[in-house]
Amino acid sequence: MNEGIEGTERFLSPGSGRGLQAVRHFSAGELVFACPAYSYVLTVNEREAHCENCFSRREDLFKCGKCKQAHYCNVECQRSDWTMHKLECVAMCADGENWCPSETVRLVARIILKQRVTPERDPSERLLLLSEFEAHLDKMDSEKDEMNHADIAALHHFYSKHISDIPGDQALTELFAQVNCNGFTIEDEELSHLGSAVFPDVALMNHSCSPNVIVTYKGTVAEVRAIREIDPGDEVFNSYIDLLYPTEDRKERLLDSYFFSCQCTECTSKSKDKAKMETRKLSSPPGARENQSHGPLRQDCDRGVQEGQTLQNPQ
Ligand SMILES: [Zn+2]
Ligand SMILES: [Zn+2]
Ligand SMILES: [Zn+2]
Repeated sequence: MNEGIEGTERFLSPGSGRGLQAVRHFSAGELVFACPAYSYVLTVNEREAHCENCFSRREDLFKCGKCKQAHYCNVECQRSDWTMHKLECVAMCADGENWCPSETVRLVARIILKQRVTPERDPSERLLLLSEFEAHLDKMDSEKDEMNHADIAALHHFYSKHISDIPGDQALTELFAQVNCNGFTIEDEELSHLGSAVFPDVALMNHSCSPNVIVTYKGTVAEVRAIREIDPGDEVFNSYIDLLYPTEDRKERLLDSYFFSCQCTECTSKSKDKAKMETRKLSSPPGARENQSHGPLRQDCDRGVQEGQTLQNPQ
């Protein structure tokens, strides 16, 4: 996987720490690289419509014979997902409506398990290891601190029977903070929220409000595509936030979620602010949807009831 990553390299970006740099030319529209998810989780509300393993949308999904919640394309998809699904399958049966960890907690549980079953470098970590993610623990305010404590408590509550030796509070505080700053929400073509994931090599890119790539998803694979010409030596910039908003709004959001003050050309020149204010007046309520979001991850706690064919659990 991670095709095309040979055209880029990790480097030290002036003023922003590590980043991603092009070592060859990319044309607008060209795939810069694709990165499989290190860990991912399908959002609860999309369970009936998408395969829990490959995120395919189809009508003829089979459901897990045990929990009747998870759906799959076929036995192969179910088998591939079983290591992760077994963290939830039995608990969902036992707890019913009371089983409601947030999507972030579900993702972190999967990351902990993945780190145990695959201790070697993952194909999604060609240039950046998940363990290298910034946590910005020193910048957490009391509100974030409280959320972090709640996440840790929920992880223990919902997963302690299924993960032996859950890491200590210090390690979990750091892991949740890392995932909040570096996680991605996966969306379909209509920008409907499908799930949450971590893509270490994609997280290596620094932010710009005038990015030269966009991230889209094919199943659970992130595709980084040039949206204008990129020359060898150029830094590859992604946007972490919705760019519909004027400079002050963007700056506030970046500072709050990612702890940095954006100094990109767009934030300095504010050249598009007037047009953005106009668009904003015309559009539906702001902030309703996060485009190409790079965390923080959403909270989610309701489930539908599924009908359909069933599959037996793999042993
Ligand atoms: Zn599938
Ligand atoms: Zn199940
Ligand atoms: Zn900016």
